[in-house]
Amino acid sequence: MKTAEFLPWHRETAAAWLGNRDRFAHAWLVHGLAGTGLREFVFAAAASLLCESPVAGLACGKCLACGWVASGNHPDLRRVRPEAVALEEGAQQDSEGGDPQDAASGPADSGGSGKRAASKEIRVDQIRALEPWFNNATHRGGWRVALVYPSEALNAISGNALLKVLEEPPPSTVFLMVADAPDRLLPTLLSRCRRLPLPTPSHEAARAWLKDQGLASPDDWLAAAGGAPVLAAKLAASQGAACPDWLGAMLRTVGKGALPDIGSLADTISKQPAIDWIDPMHRWCVDLLLARHGVAVRYYPALAGQTESIARRADPAALTELAQYVQQQRRVAGHPLSAKLFAHALLQRVVSACQPSRSAPTASR
Ligand SMILES: [Zn+2]
Repeated sequence: MKTAEFLPWHRETAAAWLGNRDRFAHAWLVHGLAGTGLREFVFAAAASLLCESPVAGLACGKCLACGWVASGNHPDLRRVRPEAVALEEGAQQDSEGGDPQDAASGPADSGGSGKRAASKEIRVDQIRALEPWFNNATHRGGWRVALVYPSEALNAISGNALLKVLEEPPPSTVFLMVADAPDRLLPTLLSRCRRLPLPTPSHEAARAWLKDQGLASPDDWLAAAGGAPVLAAKLAASQGAACPDWLGAMLRTVGKGALPDIGSLADTISKQPAIDWIDPMHRWCVDLLLARHGVAVRYYPALAGQTESIARRADPAALTELAQYVQQQRRVAGHPLSAKLFAHALLQRVVSACQPSRSAPTASR
């Protein structure tokens, strides 16, 4: 929780929303396109709600409350997030061990080795742990703010526990729930929230912001992130090139009509969380379909040549089927039984769908 500033493309929405706090709802569903800064929005919103001398509804950045929020110590702010997300954020924000703003989702094991897998769900005890916090007066006499993210991580039990809370909302409390796929939330829970849709930034706004972040070739990163600037910045921080190395390596072989070493590719990609490679794979499948229809590729222009030559030779029906299959797999990617087997099976499907249609009849499946 470093910055309490709204991203440029959210400022207008934020000012209108926070500027009118008469009958402010106690639960908001903040939703929009993934990777466009939904979390950054609710962090900044929390700072604005807790600020003790807001300027036109927005955090002043100077008062005691703003300082506490920035340092992760405001007693009237709680973050309800899966353990896995807390670890991920902790890794980026080092000095936050034992975060008082955390709702009972302490790190799994502090030791580097032999860790159990961190939970990807918001557990019911995290919701229950909020109870004493609700029952006390707020420390600074203002709002109490609970950030729930991602809301899709609520399971049936924790979702119902939260629903109970929202049915009889505690005084002076605002819940800000974040979702990029609100249709996956319990309908009963949705019905308890006011919706706040966030705008998707224009290409120009996204590009300008990435340039401000010091990114040398914002267009490539923005393309790889499907136009979502915060995701683009995250990709740029975690990998050397906008197009993942393994994807380039795979295409160099498949593009020549040869078969790649699926075993070693699966080894490489399964070292990262499945979602981190299946997303690029899905984007590349979309590029394949675009190329098949003679349209310019969208996500990986650097691979356009190879993508186009694969698309030209492959069976169009196989490519359509492949894109659907990869999208389906994306939904279960959070819980593969074996990361390596999951990667292996998916790569096999990709490689087989990309084989030239005439020279590879059905037997190659
Ligand atoms: Zn302030």
